[in-house]
Amino acid sequence: MTHRAADDHYQVLGVAPDAGADEVRAAWRFAIEAFHPDRYTSPEQAERAHLMAARVNAAWEVLGDPARRRRYDLSRPSADEPAAHLEVPCPQCLGRCGVPDGGGRPVLVRCPSCRGAFRAYVGATLVGRPHLVWRGLRARHVLVLLDASGAMHEVVSRKLPGELGMVEGETVTVVCTPRRGHARYLIVHGRSTDIGWRVG
Ligand SMILES: [Zn+2]
Repeated sequence: MTHRAADDHYQVLGVAPDAGADEVRAAWRFAIEAFHPDRYTSPEQAERAHLMAARVNAAWEVLGDPARRRRYDLSRPSADEPAAHLEVPCPQCLGRCGVPDGGGRPVLVRCPSCRGAFRAYVGATLVGRPHLVWRGLRARHVLVLLDASGAMHEVVSRKLPGELGMVEGETVTVVCTPRRGHARYLIVHGRSTDIGWRVG
């Protein structure tokens, strides 16, 4: 991901440049919630969340105002370059959904087939190895993901196939269930191929 793309308002909100006003607003509200410093326990994480929230609000100030958004679109250097896209299955209907490369940040995806919304972490870096936690009598795997801005995210997964053999530093994409936000599909990006599993 280039420095320019990382500073792009659309990338910050995780929406496509042709996203409608409602979609932009929904993405902003989602991101503000996701980066609320109170959600993070360590001071470092809270500080990073605070910085991300500032970028999210800066993006919203421009994209949330029709006149400012038009001016920004005209001045945007990458407007005529195709964005890097990946397709993931919708957790509800299995329809194919194009997702923006969020640099591992949580992006809100709207399925073009069933119109359902779900969250995905695209191109995140796995931190450490997945660890087990107990929820009542059930064991769950917790994956810690690092995004391009240095913020960490935890995702709960019901299963973790042994074939995955996930190691520190692996690049992964996680598609979350619409309701609970747990992992539904896990895609490991290899050097030449991507391998995906259903994990929840
Ligand atoms: Zn769908």
